[in-house]
Amino acid sequence: MARGVEVRVENVSKVFRDRGVTQALRGVSLTVRKGELFSILGPSGCGKTTLLRILAGLLKPDEGRVFFDGVDVTDVPAYERPIGMVFQDLALFPHLTVYRNVSFSLEIAGWPSDRIERRVREVLQLVRLPYEEFAHRKISQLSGGQQQRVAIARALAREPKLLLLDEPFSHLDYKIRIELIHELKRLQRETGVTTIYVTHDRNEAMLLSDRLAVMKDGVVQQVGTPEEVYRSPANAFVASFLGEVNIIPAKAVNGLIKLGDLEISLERLLPGLGNYTGDVLLLLRPESISLTPPGGDGALRFRVQLAEKVFLGPYTKLLFSGWGDIRLEALAPTREAAPLEPGSVVDVYVEASEMRVYTD
Ligand code: ADP
Ligand code: MG
Repeated sequence: MARGVEVRVENVSKVFRDRGVTQALRGVSLTVRKGELFSILGPSGCGKTTLLRILAGLLKPDEGRVFFDGVDVTDVPAYERPIGMVFQDLALFPHLTVYRNVSFSLEIAGWPSDRIERRVREVLQLVRLPYEEFAHRKISQLSGGQQQRVAIARALAREPKLLLLDEPFSHLDYKIRIELIHELKRLQRETGVTTIYVTHDRNEAMLLSDRLAVMKDGVVQQVGTPEEVYRSPANAFVASFLGEVNIIPAKAVNGLIKLGDLEISLERLLPGLGNYTGDVLLLLRPESISLTPPGGDGALRFRVQLAEKVFLGPYTKLLFSGWGDIRLEALAPTREAAPLEPGSVVDVYVEASEMRVYTD
């Protein structure tokens, strides 16, 4: 099988001028490694599809360059790029068979029919659609998940070195979606094709990716592994896009913040802020708040009152109110949360190393 390419995007910008002026991409730079499974994650309208279309060669950037394995392909048209694409609206031919949908691009490319048949068998095998059962069915006789598999088989037929997927599973049920995510991961490992997966769904991106880029308003906010981006988000937007998070605004005076009866030295949270005076944001994941004092002396203690309790099975969500009008959301094992009743005043604990501080 074909190995993947390295994809490098350098300072790419794109403005649309047909309905007013929209800056879809602003100075986007990133590198996707050879054979990597990479996601582009961000809310609707942040420029994901625009970036993917530029990678595909369907759209020219206003500024910036795109390189495949170090070769500038910015001016290379889509049909000359070694890519396969899967979009949300599959653009399969519904009245044609699975076989014809997959073989179509190979016929256009002038492959001999015996080679085409071999390849169709191979890719249907790869997406786990047994040839004997599925090759001669019409697309309209398949389930949504099976149609997606055909779309992936078709994208892989010509052994692309780069597979581009734009929210391909977003119209499917949760269970099928998760199943296809795992399938995609498996076949990406099997083929080694560099894969770029666009989604607005953080769970998909976390499940799937070796690394991901988080985008907002046409700007890449952060690139990293799912764990890096979740644990050390570059800013409050990334933090809240990747999961539940408590965002606590505070004022620092000479490197000290006061939260209720608690004084926190900023230097402890982020070295170099020992003398900082001004507004800060403290970020704290719900699962970082614990009901029992952790070992060691690195923990901050907050006195809070339980306002509300939401049973989630193995975990229980606890909504606390604290100093001023601050609300703190915690996620605790249900066993530990069981004795707490709304109205109880308790101490909760946070390791200083789990708290992130931002000064802008
Ligand atoms: P996403 O895929 O993240 O939802 P898009 O890349 O589709 O975002 O769009 C980014 C921005 O560019 C949006 O504001 C969108 O309305 C705008 N846009 C995209 N394509 C066009 C176009 N062909 N003409 C005008 N505006 C566009
Ligand atoms: Mg889109």
